[in-house]
Amino acid sequence: MMQGRPLGLSAETLVEIWEQGAGWHPIDQALLVLRYACVDLPGEDLSEWSIGRRDRRLLEIRRQTFGDRIEGYVECPACRHGLEFELSCDALLAQDPSQARVTGSVEYEGRGWEVRVPNSRDLSAVAEAGDLAAARDTLFERCVRCGAEPAPVLGRWPESLRSRLDVELVALDPLAEILIGLTCQACSHAWQTLFDIATYLWSEIRARSRRLLQEIDLLARTYGWTEQEILRMSERRRGLYVQMALS
Ligand SMILES: [Zn+2]
Repeated sequence: MMQGRPLGLSAETLVEIWEQGAGWHPIDQALLVLRYACVDLPGEDLSEWSIGRRDRRLLEIRRQTFGDRIEGYVECPACRHGLEFELSCDALLAQDPSQARVTGSVEYEGRGWEVRVPNSRDLSAVAEAGDLAAARDTLFERCVRCGAEPAPVLGRWPESLRSRLDVELVALDPLAEILIGLTCQACSHAWQTLFDIATYLWSEIRARSRRLLQEIDLLARTYGWTEQEILRMSERRRGLYVQMALS
């Protein structure tokens, strides 16, 4: 299953990332993973990457580290029946045109509204908002400008303008919000669910780190090797020793 992929995160790095980021907010955990994966971009402020750009890179890291196929599980919101689904990192990456435009504009009632794609700093600000509506307001406040003048009082923005700004944001940064269409096999209810690569990847890093530590515990007790020696083995070799130690 898991083969040593040269470009993915190594076993040592996975454990290091998990140890540092355990208990952090998911936005910061995603930035931590990026920092480890983007050592070739020193000085780059990763928190200023758009969320789509961040997620594109996280999908690449996921594919290189754990493989292309993502298996998910959700419950049908109508009948609670469990549903498994599969995604491909490659297929998700192919949906993204990577235009690398970070701003767009919307004409509304004779005025030009400039909108910038949100980044991790914006998400952190939004995370402190009380509810969904407040979060959306915070995001617009940070990311929308109306010409040279400040935008009119946010509470008075018509819903039609807000939805046009939403549409423009999705067009600018399609990977920022990965929606997947699902149909329940039990009751035929169809709905869309949000797939968040950042939290998904973190749960995999956590699970893999725990398994690695269990393997280290077993192999160190059986063979007397050090943690570093065990972590630096290929997945295949370590797996075989684990089998032998257990038999
Ligand atoms: Zn159902």
